[in-house]
Amino acid sequence: MSKKESIVHLIEKLNLHRVDESQKIIQQIIAYGDDAIEPLFEAFYHDEKTGEKEYILDALINLIDHDRLVEHLIRIMHCIHGFTRYYSLKHLLEFGNETIHHQLIPFIIESIGGHYYLDKLARDHLPHLGEPALNQLIVAIDRQSQLQNTNRDDRLCELVFILVSFNDEKILKPAINALKSVQNEGMYQSFIWAFKKVSAKVVSDLIEILKDSKSSYSLKLCIVHILANVRDKQSALSLLPLLNHSNEEMRSFVAYAFGDIGNRAVIPNLIELLKTDPHIYVRMASANALGEMRDDTAIQPLIESLQADKSSEVRRMAVSSLRHYKGVDVVTALIQALRDEETDIAVMAGYALRSQFDDARSHLQALHKEEPELIERAFNTMKWEFINLCRNDEELQKSSLSDVEGISSIIDYYNDQSHNCPICGKSPTELTWFYISSSPESWRMLVGRAGWQSVCDDCKIQVNFFLTTMN
Ligand SMILES: [Zn+2]
Repeated sequence: MSKKESIVHLIEKLNLHRVDESQKIIQQIIAYGDDAIEPLFEAFYHDEKTGEKEYILDALINLIDHDRLVEHLIRIMHCIHGFTRYYSLKHLLEFGNETIHHQLIPFIIESIGGHYYLDKLARDHLPHLGEPALNQLIVAIDRQSQLQNTNRDDRLCELVFILVSFNDEKILKPAINALKSVQNEGMYQSFIWAFKKVSAKVVSDLIEILKDSKSSYSLKLCIVHILANVRDKQSALSLLPLLNHSNEEMRSFVAYAFGDIGNRAVIPNLIELLKTDPHIYVRMASANALGEMRDDTAIQPLIESLQADKSSEVRRMAVSSLRHYKGVDVVTALIQALRDEETDIAVMAGYALRSQFDDARSHLQALHKEEPELIERAFNTMKWEFINLCRNDEELQKSSLSDVEGISSIIDYYNDQSHNCPICGKSPTELTWFYISSSPESWRMLVGRAGWQSVCDDCKIQVNFFLTTMN
C-alpha cells in the first residue's frame, strides 16, 4: 500500500460515533505530516462524508497554519455546498474573528432554506452577527418575495423565521411584506409559527391586512392565528366583525383567538354565538373562550349550554370551561351533569366538582348514599380490581419508591394539585397513596400509563391520579 493509500484508508475509518478510536486515528494521520494534507482536503470536499469532516478539520489544523486554513475555506466557500459548507462555516464561526464572521454572512444567508443543518446554523448564529446580518437578511427576503417560482415560500418562511429572532424594529415591515407575498397557502402554518416571536407592534399592520378586501380568506385566517398568539387586547375589537363571517371555520378561529387574547369587551358577542350559532365548532370555540375569560357573566350561558346543547362536543367544552368558575350555580349544574348520557362528560363534571369541595360536599354525600352508581361512574374511572392489583403488587410499590424519599414526599410534591376526598373530605395526607401501572400488554401496545394514585378507602373513591410515565 502506498503512503497515500494508507492515509486514505485511515481517513475512511474515521467514525463520528466512535470518538476515542477516531481521535487515535487522527493522531496516526497527523504523523504522516505534509503527505496527509492533500488526502485530507480531498476527503473533506467529498460531500457524502458527513460527521467525519469535523475530525478532518482537526487534523488539518495540526498540519497547516490555522490562518491559512481559514483563508482557504473562505476563498472556496462559493464552490462548496451541503455538509462541506456546513462544517466549514461551523469551523469558521468557532475559530474565526469578527472580520471573518462578517465575511461569512452572505454564505450563511444564501444557504438558508435548503439544508437542515445549514438552516440550524443560520438560526443559531445570524442573530448574533448584528446589524450587517440583519440588513443582508432583509435584502434577501425582499428578493425572495419577488420570485415567482412555486417553491419560493419554503425559503422565504425560513428567512422570516430567522428575521424575527432579531430584536429590532426593522424586522416588522419586511416580515409583514413577506407574509403578504406568500403564494402557497399551505405555508401559512409555518408563518404563524415564525410570527410567534413578533411583538405587539405588528398588530396594526396585521389588522390593515384583515380589513383589506383584496386579502384572501386564508391570509385572513393566518392573521387571526397570529393575533391570537400576540395576545394584544386592542386587536380583539378589530377581530369582532369576523364573528359574523359567513364561513364557520373563520368564526370559530376568531372565537378561539378571543380566548387567547382575553378582552372582556367581547363577552356578549361570545355568549350570543354560544347560544345561537348553528355550527358545533363555533359554539365549542365560544364555550372555550368564555372559560378562558374567567368572568362571572359567562357562568349562566355556560351552564345553559351544558344543560341544553344537543351536541356532546359543545357540552364537553362547557363543562371543561365551568371548572374555572366557582359558586352554588356552578355546583348545581355540575351535579346535574353527573347524569349526562356521555360518561366522559360525567367524569369531567366529577373532576370539576373535586375543586368545589365546600359547596358540593352535601350534594355528593346524598348522591353517594342514594345513587352510588352515579358517583361510581363519574369518580372511579378505573376498575377497583385493577387498583387493588397494583397496590398489592409489592414489587411495583417498592420499585416506584426507589428514587424518592418515601410516599410523604410524593404527597408533598403534588400538594398544589391534590384534592380532598369529595365525599368525606379527608385531606390528601389522610388518603391512601400508591403507584399504579397499566398492564404489560398495554406497554407492549405503546399505550402504557403509570403514575401516583390517591384513594379514599372509606368512601371507595379514586380521588387523584398523577401521570408520571407513558409510552
Ligand atoms: Zn372519603
